[in-house]
Amino acid sequence: MSVTVRMAPSPTGFLHIGGVRTFLFNWLYARQHGGRNLLRIENTDTSREVAEATHQIQESLRWIGIEWDGDVTFQLDRMDDCRRVAEQLVAEGKAYEDEGAIRFRMPDEGVTAWDDVVRGHVEVPNETIEDLVLIRSDGRPTYNFASPMEDVWDGITHVIRGEDHISNTPKQIQIIRAIGADVPVYAHVPNIFGSDGKKLSKRHGATGVDEFQREGYLPETMLNFLALLGWAPDGETTLMRRDELIERFSLERVSPSPAQFDYAKLDWMNGVYLRELSPEEYAHRLVLWLGDEGYDWDAQLVTRAAPLVQEKIAKLSEFPGFAGFLFHDVEPDPADLDGGAPVIEAARGALATLEPFDAEHIEASLRGVVEGLGLKPRQGFQPIRVAITGSRVSPGLFESIELLGRETTLSRLAAAAAIA
Ligand code: GLU
Repeated sequence: MSVTVRMAPSPTGFLHIGGVRTFLFNWLYARQHGGRNLLRIENTDTSREVAEATHQIQESLRWIGIEWDGDVTFQLDRMDDCRRVAEQLVAEGKAYEDEGAIRFRMPDEGVTAWDDVVRGHVEVPNETIEDLVLIRSDGRPTYNFASPMEDVWDGITHVIRGEDHISNTPKQIQIIRAIGADVPVYAHVPNIFGSDGKKLSKRHGATGVDEFQREGYLPETMLNFLALLGWAPDGETTLMRRDELIERFSLERVSPSPAQFDYAKLDWMNGVYLRELSPEEYAHRLVLWLGDEGYDWDAQLVTRAAPLVQEKIAKLSEFPGFAGFLFHDVEPDPADLDGGAPVIEAARGALATLEPFDAEHIEASLRGVVEGLGLKPRQGFQPIRVAITGSRVSPGLFESIELLGRETTLSRLAAAAAIA
């Protein structure tokens, strides 16, 4: 039996990171088994005006690297088919009309049971399941009818979805049985909680995929991090790229307990992936990210600055704060200049005629200046750093001065000396 799974987002706005984790499990499972992963937009409860949400869902999945097979399909396109099946069920006495709607006749006795890959054997007494509306009085099928019908028509072998849907499963199983089709395997994956033990929400920080992108996380980080929300290959391995994830993923090892979203771990992991990039690739990602965020900074200068920050930042979004002084004027706080006018002036004098104006010679020259004034390196370099970068924390001072160039360096030193 070849595996077919599906990602079934409701097009109600941005793609929540929890949904993406669930889609990731579908994709990993499909790829591992050489199967298909479908993308199906569940828009029975919404209007047809879902173009933008649908577009955004696909963009987010593409960014993170989760692929789907074949065309995107829309639940609403199957309304007529759903109505036909509902009428057939009425004709067979398995459903009935009720104030213009069509309801499914649930069995009153016994249980509906399934062996959930994640949660084990689940049993629900049928007397607790109400007669489900299949078609509303306005003619639209309900989610609980359309979704299992689509699972049947699409030949879905495994329904891998969030645990919120456990209560829907017995209803859907009953419908599938009523039309005489095979019931798929179900795997209900755990919810994601914030570190406070509450369901992940805005309160905890970013929750939409595009927000993580904007904050400067890499897609390879997100893929790796999300895969570990509810699954682990063993007790140890943390860093895994696409191919290793596909190879090692197993539904059987998905835990039924809630997964915890740990932002500190995410930052750590992003730092690791950022540092692993080649200098060229790192610079490329920075340039792209800055462009997406609307910075019109000189790409060549960004590329030259990239090696100065690669070891130091955990998210691309830290770049503007950390290295922005290379691209715009600075306003040093006089208090941070520590009364450093003499060393700033002396530095200006030394750098005015220095040749060649490169990091190595800048360093030698400034060390000479600092020693000449009888200062310790930290004491002497700090006012110069603040004058040049506007901050007490910066990338390497000498490399930064080289990138900034003589003219800007001298004018910043002059301006700082005047207020120190
Ligand atoms: N559309 C549902 C959701 O967004 C998914 C339903 C399903 O996977 O069966 O949660």
